[in-house]
Amino acid sequence: MIKKTCMLCGTPFEPCGRQRCCPACRDRVIQSYQHARQKAPRKKQEKCLICGKPMTHHNAYYTCSQACRDIFRSITTAFRQKQVREKMKRNRVRKNPHLDVPHIEKRAKKQPAMYQLDQNIAAAKKLGISYGVYMVRKAGML
Ligand SMILES: [Zn+2]
Ligand SMILES: [Zn+2]
Repeated sequence: MIKKTCMLCGTPFEPCGRQRCCPACRDRVIQSYQHARQKAPRKKQEKCLICGKPMTHHNAYYTCSQACRDIFRSITTAFRQKQVREKMKRNRVRKNPHLDVPHIEKRAKKQPAMYQLDQNIAAAKKLGISYGVYMVRKAGML
């Protein structure tokens, strides 16, 4: 595995995909991002979440410049995709027939949304992949 140098702290790390920052920096950015969003959504931060410099006139809520914004976006996008994948994993467990509670199954069948779901499951089967993987691919995230 080729090591990269973290763009934020300079620590060498093993990148997964196109990651530009080490796991510690990614965690730190995501934590301050979530904190900022909970505390004051849609409010401009005083300091850049990436480099910690005071904010400039750059038109972004969390970062001081285009360069910082690029890093910020690559971190948060990967984070959101991970969240979606984890959510799908949970959904798949819930749809396991052995775990289904009968009355929930009955009620769900009446909903038109289930038709789309069945189609997706059938399409995934045709491709020989799992429903979760299929949905991630469909959303263009793989
Ligand atoms: Zn780092
Ligand atoms: Zn910055």
